[in-house]
Amino acid sequence: MGDYYYMNIGQSVLQMLKDEISEIEYNRYIKQLQFATEESRSDFALFFAPNPLVANWIKTKYTDKIAHLFEIKTGTKPTVSVTIRTRNTPETAAAAPTAAPIEKPKHSLLNPSHTFENFVVGGSNQFAYAAAKSVSEKPGDIYNPLFIYGGVGLGKTHLMQAIGNVLQHQGKSVIYTSIEQFVNDFTRHLRNQTMDRFKDKYRKCDALLIDDVQFLSNKNQTQEEFFHTFETLRNERKQIILTADKHPKQIAGLEERLKSRFEWGLVADIQPPELETKIAIIKKKCEINRVSLTNDVINYIATIISNNAREIEGILSKLHAYAQLMHMDISIEFAKNVLREQLQEQRDNITIDYIMSTISKELNVKPSEIRSKNRSRNIVYARRIAIYLARELTPMSMPQLAKYFGMKDHTAVSHTMKKIQELLKNDEDFKVKIEELTNKITTPQIG
Ligand code: ADP
Ligand code: MG
Repeated sequence: MGDYYYMNIGQSVLQMLKDEISEIEYNRYIKQLQFATEESRSDFALFFAPNPLVANWIKTKYTDKIAHLFEIKTGTKPTVSVTIRTRNTPETAAAAPTAAPIEKPKHSLLNPSHTFENFVVGGSNQFAYAAAKSVSEKPGDIYNPLFIYGGVGLGKTHLMQAIGNVLQHQGKSVIYTSIEQFVNDFTRHLRNQTMDRFKDKYRKCDALLIDDVQFLSNKNQTQEEFFHTFETLRNERKQIILTADKHPKQIAGLEERLKSRFEWGLVADIQPPELETKIAIIKKKCEINRVSLTNDVINYIATIISNNAREIEGILSKLHAYAQLMHMDISIEFAKNVLREQLQEQRDNITIDYIMSTISKELNVKPSEIRSKNRSRNIVYARRIAIYLARELTPMSMPQLAKYFGMKDHTAVSHTMKKIQELLKNDEDFKVKIEELTNKITTPQIG
């Protein structure tokens, strides 16, 4: 239960935000939020939004800011979460004071629109989808745990929650949590000497869904506890589903026994979507959010976004908001104008210099070495990755790349690209490294 002090803090944080942003933006989005006093704690702030559009707009634009304002007010920076619920539910309940105290419906943190029906299947995610579907049909039975991994915004949380939603509809008790919340919860119960309650909570559910387990890295005490939770649940054939940004083998600072257990069931990867899949995802999001766009606008959006589907809802909200404001239809010219800024930001973020400095840091090779003709193994390795990522993530042409990397001409670049494609097919470690670096480079830095 939220403590008394915590009751109004959420609302006053939103008030603070009011001074910092435009009135239109405030009225359109922030005003629609409701602070979840019951569910929030000093390290976790939950807000309810009336629909996915508002929720996602807040998530993409404001959670960092909101967390920061909390920190100013309370000294603690919470994890800020936004979920969908229609307003007034608590008021309706309160309006019936004579009713016997009914058990409060447990608020589920599952996003109701994260369903299998709303998930677009393409070559990039087919395998993970099929695995998730089977798990939802036979929980605890075939693949336990199910481990889904892949880059940011590729649909891991969506798929995991789709299973959760199916099970929850069957009346099963489902716990969905991020590893950060799990760690926070653990620390809090440890401090309050209420570990029994912690154990009860996590060991007595029918399905435990834990998101982003790479953050367990180096948290030894929690790993220990998590290990026992895992063992208990698995012995009782309760379903465990985990996601991470990389393969269990690649998660540094994770106990070997956990790594091996994560592979006991099925490890499924999600790859970046092909253009067709991106287009289909955008169409799906339009349908869910009741935004209508012409095909050329949809195609345009598909080409400007990176592989991260999370951008889509932000873009739709933006287009929708502007169109309403200007009383204009969303034509391709209109979309280009509105999204120019977005495109610019993306291009500015991912420059060849940024790619080089990231690779150089991660692989411990100097940029000058990467651009040199040095043939030692680790440098050739770094150079290949740099050429590949520059080609994938920047608008640089083959001749430009040849010049930048001191190669003879564009055929030399295309030769290298071929070699890399081959490696991606045959060398699992190389593939994982490329994925990891792509993630690092394409994920906006927070702060
Ligand atoms: P991740 O957890 O891998 O970072 P999410 O599951 O949060 O990614 O997905 C980001 C957004 O993109 C969500 O709104 C999700 O619904 C959407 N999304 C991603 N992949 C798909 C897909 N294949 N079909 C429909 N929506 C998708
Ligand atoms: Mg996720």
